[in-house]
Order: sequence, then structure tokens, then C-alpha cells
Amino acid sequence: MMKRFKRIVALVIAFAIIATSFNMVYAEEASGDSSAAKVSADASDDAVSSDAYKATSEVKTEVTTEVMTTEVLTTEDVNTDISSAEASTDASADAPFSEASKVDSIYLTAHGKTKVVVSWTSVYQATGYLVYKKAPSASYKLVSFVYECKYTDSSVKYGKTYEYKIVPVMDTNASMEASADASRDASYYVSGDGIIKGLENSITFKNAKIVATGHQKYTYTEMKGDIALLCKNYHGIVKSHVFGKSEDNRNLYDVTVGNPNAKKSLMVVASIHAREYMTTVVTMSQIEYYLQNYYSKIDGKSVSGTLDNICIHFVPMANPDGVTISQSGFNSIRNKTLRAKLKKMPGYSRQWKSNARGVDLNRNYAYKFRRRGIRGQEGYSGAKASSEKETKAISKLITSLKSKGLKGAVNYHTMGSIIFGGIKKSAAAYKNTKRMYKVAKNTTKYLASEAVGYGSSGYGNLREYFMYTKKVPSITIEVGRYCNPVPQSQFKGIWSKNKKLVLREARLFD
Ligand SMILES: [Zn+2]
Repeated sequence: MMKRFKRIVALVIAFAIIATSFNMVYAEEASGDSSAAKVSADASDDAVSSDAYKATSEVKTEVTTEVMTTEVLTTEDVNTDISSAEASTDASADAPFSEASKVDSIYLTAHGKTKVVVSWTSVYQATGYLVYKKAPSASYKLVSFVYECKYTDSSVKYGKTYEYKIVPVMDTNASMEASADASRDASYYVSGDGIIKGLENSITFKNAKIVATGHQKYTYTEMKGDIALLCKNYHGIVKSHVFGKSEDNRNLYDVTVGNPNAKKSLMVVASIHAREYMTTVVTMSQIEYYLQNYYSKIDGKSVSGTLDNICIHFVPMANPDGVTISQSGFNSIRNKTLRAKLKKMPGYSRQWKSNARGVDLNRNYAYKFRRRGIRGQEGYSGAKASSEKETKAISKLITSLKSKGLKGAVNYHTMGSIIFGGIKKSAAAYKNTKRMYKVAKNTTKYLASEAVGYGSSGYGNLREYFMYTKKVPSITIEVGRYCNPVPQSQFKGIWSKNKKLVLREARLFD
């Protein structure tokens, strides 16, 4: 430890020497010496006064000899030494007392509605951290000094916005030695009480409901923003990843709730049919509900206990172009060629089921694919199996999840308040599809598919692709009582029947 400390001091001294030589060179240039002009061509006054290290890279060749003649280590030696030290990072090796004296990232993990854990990345040579909090319409107050990179606030109110500011407290000995030279460095300062503070960083925490369910058209753009906010407020227990793009270049999101490294997983797919965007509102609400209750119980059982073992991969909008067409018309398609072709297809935008190429994505999968229909009309299969980007991306995601323990899949559609769980007795996924079906029936009290015949029939459909091609148990739930798109007024009823459903399905495999 002591050895490293000495070398760091040596490094600082080396910097001072380099900076001093640079100043000399720079002064010469200013006085009109053309021989030094090339050295400082890229340097500005700012670089000299506030970022001595940056300047060293420009003058290194000029001053190496001088540094070598002094009794300190060369920059190279010190860098090698520090990079081998376990706590160091590249940034801190370069400039231990400047840029690196700031917390890189701050994270929030809300626990229910009244508690949040604030955590952050560690700062090299920080001995601890000062935590400041700003309550609504108040100024920052120092609330804690912590040694760990973590602060728990159990007194936040739902519906309010807070700010947290983290200031590292630097190693006093090392910093004091350095301060003689680095006093011009604005990245930290010695306060009246002798505490050497690093740079501050802050984060805003909006402790409020994220997914809005009170309006008819929950758009792709809203979903995108909500996914980002959920990831911000629930760091560590939710992750989003764009696993593909739609034909009109919108993102396809896989939002993973729970431990992303769990050995088991469940997949949920919504809005594969354009006008069925109510299912995006339902699944996005489920994501928020499970995250909000992650550290408490649902059905009397710990949510984290389940989701640490089996994570849930939500694809809340499998057909974002189609949803956008149904909500905002053909003109919302950005690609000129696609847009022009769409306008010549049969069918009204509001009632749209297909993607932006007029293909019914739930007829496009590579199981019992059969070419049929007319582009733009309900049920058009596409020219061949997996012809669409959305189909390819989801098929690929399923394959990847399957290799990592995918146990089952829930497909959300509208409408009819009915569940499809039919499967051939000989199928490998038979037993668990039946179990999933039973849980869904008991939870929602929706109609049994037996009442209307065998399964969500059709060629190239996703549920059958899951069950027969991928051997993944799978059910389909049709929410909403009447009318497509399902009116917002039905959300409350749908929600009360479905909010726990996906978690209960996951628990079948826990
Ligand atoms: Zn559908």
C-alpha cells in the first residue's frame, strides 16, 4: 500500500514537471519562437491551466529527457504499476485526482413506493461518499456519509420527485500531497473542514407510476420512453435489449424482469397483431407491477424468490409498425416505398392486423406454413415462411432463449376473453401446456378454448411454432370482451384478471 502511495506521489510530481516544461514551451511559442510552435498548435490556454495531463501527450517527446534525468519514475513505469493494482481503472491511472474523482454512474432501485436504494460506481482512492438529497421544492441537504457505494432512503413519497448528489471524499494523505500542485485543478477542492472532495454527480428520481393506462392509444414512442424509465428506476432487476428491427426500422424490445442470468425463463409476446395494442398496455403494466413488488409478496409468496430463479422475457410490442398504423394511419410509416405500397392495399388502417408490408405475422412462422391470402388483407401469410424481419427476429430470440432454459410462452391477443391451450397429446410440450392453460383459466375465468374448437388454429402461427417446432409449452390469451381495437374502458376489467397471471405461469416452473 505504502509503495503504491509513494509511486502515486511520484506520478503527480512527474506530472508537475511535465506541466511546467509545457508551460515553458508554450511561453516560448507565445513570445514568437517558431521552433516550439508545432508543439502547442493544438493546445489552448484551457488545456494548460485545467488539464495538464492532456497537455503532456502533446509535449511528451519534448520533455521525456528531462523527466528521465530526475529521480522519479517515468510516467510509463507508474502507469504499469497502477494498472496492476486491483482497484485501479484506466482513467484513474491516467489522472488519479482529476476526472476520476467523480462517480461515473448512479443507479436507482425503487423498492415499492416509499423506499429507494441509490448506488453508484466506486471512485479510485475515495475513502467514502457524501450523500446529498433534494426533496421537492427544497434545497440539497447532506443526508449521509457512507463507506459503501450505496445509500438506502426509506422516506420517499409516491408521486414526488427527488434528486441525489454523490460527492466522493478523497484519500486525505494522498490528496494532501497532491494538492500542492493540483490546487488549480477544479475537479476537487479542500473544504474548510479539511475534507477533500471529489467532483459531484447527481441523479433525478421520479417516484411515480410510469405506464399510463388511462388513454386509448398507447404508442410505440410511449412504450420506448417507459422502458427507459423502468430501467432507470429499477436498476438490477430489469433490463431491456433491442433484439431486432421492424420493416420500418422500429425497435423490437425484449424487456427482462428478474435475474437475467437465471437458469430458467418464460417468454411473453404481445401485439403481434396491430390493432391488438391493448395487450402492450397489459404487459407493460405487468412489468411495472412485478418490479414495484419485487421485494415484497404477490399471492403470499416472495416475488424476488421466483424471479431470481426464472426471469420473464417480455416482448411488449412484436409488431410496432402495425400498431403505429392502427393508431395513426398509413402516413405514420416513414419508409416511402412501404408507405406507397400500403396505400394500395385493401383494408382500413384502424382495423390493421398486419405489419408494414401487409403480412399477418401470426401466419408467417415456419411451422406448417402455407401461402395464402392477399397482401394487406387479414390472414395474409407472406410469400414464404419467416419472410418478415419481425418473424426472423422473434424466431432467433426463441432459439437463443431455448438454449438458456426457456420453459414456456404466453401469447397475448385481443379479443373474446378466451384462452387457447389445445395441443396434440403426442407433443413433447403437452403436459406443461396443459398446466399453463389451467393456471390461465383459473386466474382469468375466461372461456375455455374447447368451447370454440381446437386451439388458435391456423398455419404459420406463433403458438404452434413454440409448441411443435421449439417444443416450448405455450398458451394464447385473448383479452377484451368486444370490439377491436379494444376500447380503453375495458382496461380495468382486463387488468384485474391478468395482473398476476404471468407471474403465476412463471411459478409453475420455479
Ligand atoms: Zn390476434
